[in-house]
Amino acid sequence: MKKSIFLLSLSCALLLSTGCSSKEAVVKKDLHALHATHHWSYEGESGPLHWGDLKKEYFMCKEGKNQSPVDITDARNITKKHIQFRYFIGGKDVIYNGHTVQVNYKKGSFITIDGHTFELKQFHFHTPSENTVNGEHFPMEAHFVHQDKDGNLAVLAVMFKEGPANPELDKIIASLSPKMGVDTPLKNQANASALMPMDVDYYRFNGSLTTPPCSEGVLWAVFKKPVTASKAQINAIAKEIGHPNNRPVQPINARLITQ
Ligand SMILES: [Zn+2]
Repeated sequence: MKKSIFLLSLSCALLLSTGCSSKEAVVKKDLHALHATHHWSYEGESGPLHWGDLKKEYFMCKEGKNQSPVDITDARNITKKHIQFRYFIGGKDVIYNGHTVQVNYKKGSFITIDGHTFELKQFHFHTPSENTVNGEHFPMEAHFVHQDKDGNLAVLAVMFKEGPANPELDKIIASLSPKMGVDTPLKNQANASALMPMDVDYYRFNGSLTTPPCSEGVLWAVFKKPVTASKAQINAIAKEIGHPNNRPVQPINARLITQ
């Protein structure tokens, strides 16, 4: 149980929270209800425009200056090293947590980026994409969430466009459960590498979790080359999620996007 809480805390879809606070003298009744259930969503009064007001712990959602997602444009050319992968097949179970479809990963898969090593914890999906490229969304984006030994996060993002089916996605889709919050083991464990492009050139920037509490200090790398999934596969994942789950793009402010 403790372990699963730990893993969930890494998720972009963070549901854990305790207590509630309302410092304002006048707080709408329905906002109290939101506090009580710690509820956030992708539309209406608990949607992205209000995340920063739902709980004091979510203050970065409105105060942060390095928020994700972003529109990727005007990337600065730099000499950068390739990301080194030491991945094993280890996507072991899938869960729909009310915000996304997430595949939890076995221990032991790592990336190294600029000499810094992070372990793959989970990956999950957004339909449509959260980050955009020159203002354009892709129909789906996968986030591979990694953590270093000090708890710092690195997210690799893969864009999906419509095309040939990706057999690796079928392993996940086959185990989707209509029930929320149920971990369903994958009959055949998923291989994160098989969901990534062959060409691993990427855009890089600093950002945040794209869901409350919108914590910053996250290293983002978005692969330039999309991979394909069939329309039916994208629809299957979007149907499971049940609603668009993309936070609107956030101001870039003083950040540089490099490539
Ligand atoms: Zn995400």
